Amino acid sequence: MVRDPGVVWIAMSGWLERYHQIPDAKFDVRCMIEQVAGESLEQAKLHGISYAQEQAVIEMAERRAKGEPLQYILGEWEFFGMRMFVGEGVLIPRPDTEILVETVLEKCKTIRKPRIIDLCTGSGCIALALRKHLPDSEVHALDLSEAALAYAQRNIRYHGLPVTLHQADVLDAQKPQESGTFDIIVSNPPYLTSAEMEHLQPEIRHEPASALAAGADGLEFYRGITNVWKTALSDGGWLAFEIGEQQGKAVAEILKQQGFSEIQIIPDYAHHDRVVIGQKPHCPGNDTQKH
Ligand code: GLN
Repeated sequence: MVRDPGVVWIAMSGWLERYHQIPDAKFDVRCMIEQVAGESLEQAKLHGISYAQEQAVIEMAERRAKGEPLQYILGEWEFFGMRMFVGEGVLIPRPDTEILVETVLEKCKTIRKPRIIDLCTGSGCIALALRKHLPDSEVHALDLSEAALAYAQRNIRYHGLPVTLHQADVLDAQKPQESGTFDIIVSNPPYLTSAEMEHLQPEIRHEPASALAAGADGLEFYRGITNVWKTALSDGGWLAFEIGEQQGKAVAEILKQQGFSEIQIIPDYAHHDRVVIGQKPHCPGNDTQKH
């Protein structure tokens, strides 16, 4: 028998909001119905959905009631206009991170055939967005987590873009020495403080702590990555980090201490500091060789 998805939408979102304190449940249930029906809610209202489809939506809403993030339930989320598969064990791509991609794309305008590595790649979303928009680039992506790498691999296959994956600890000093030099090193590393980890929203508690936690002051990976990877950056190359909104000055200072120049703190579209970028100085010796 054909079911009315409009009824399921109102009933399940009302239940989630009232009994499970899920904000924006109308949006969430709409996404669930649209995925199950394979068309917009408005279209589905015209055509109706089957009993099995209705049950599938109810099961998804039940998972949402337990606090599971919408993105894991759908199994996919959009980043930079691209579909990314996600699930347990991988950080969900955030819209905040798009500004990091845009910053790197801007820097790459003046670099021919840029060689890029994305550290702590997670789903691979940064690496894939960069490779898509820089067809002459060579893009590498690195992560330690098996679960994250499995999603990154799936996303790379889905998009059919040549991104090379590496499994390694980003703080292992050996890895940069094996990797050659890069024009761009980009990373959205873990950056939450121990105190922030204590007060995570319930949804974020479902995401891997290894993608979020960065020691007492949240700066562990900025120090470690800058220190370990600066040798793998070419002269004049750029190191670009996503940061927590309070970390701009501290991360800029880390880059300064490590000899970087042209350091900039860049806000996202919500006017929160979100990116710190710095350039590895050209060797003075190399400048004189231009003639
Ligand atoms: N932006 C994420 C959050 O606040 C943190 C991601 C990260 O640590 N890289 O949930």
